[in-house]
Amino acid sequence: MDTTRVPFDFAEYERRRLTRVCYVCAIAAGESDFEHEILYSDDAHIAFLNRYPTLVGYALVAPRAHIEQVVAGFTEEAYLSIMALVRRVALAVEAVVAPERTYLLSLGSQQGNAHVHWHIAPLPPGVPYSDQQYHALMLENGALQPTPAQQADLAAAIRAHL
Ligand SMILES: [Zn+2]
Repeated sequence: MDTTRVPFDFAEYERRRLTRVCYVCAIAAGESDFEHEILYSDDAHIAFLNRYPTLVGYALVAPRAHIEQVVAGFTEEAYLSIMALVRRVALAVEAVVAPERTYLLSLGSQQGNAHVHWHIAPLPPGVPYSDQQYHALMLENGALQPTPAQQADLAAAIRAHL
């Protein structure tokens, strides 16, 4: 897959995030106006490929319910359940893209994307130190431009390990 990063259209991204209904709820309901490659789904969780990846294999895991607080929003049982899924999806991503490290984090914004989601971001081998960690994650440093067919192939490969 082409790993060239191109400038990201933040104005359009912000417009979508600030004016639309919750995008994670829309994906979970199958009503997103974007095609998202679903990696895993059950009664309580959904996992899908990042629509704006900065790294190949960048996946997101979220509860189906519109929960906004990453820790306090979950019972201990529900928290451990979704973290177990984060682990499973991360292992499947690792099996496909063989990263040097896997970054796990939860970000979000009460103004733009409040629905809790975990990022699974696989850093490939050979990235210079100065381009790792936050630099590798930030859309400010450009986004990948995978084709729908490339995303579909990647998702199928990851699903095969789940
Ligand atoms: Zn939501």
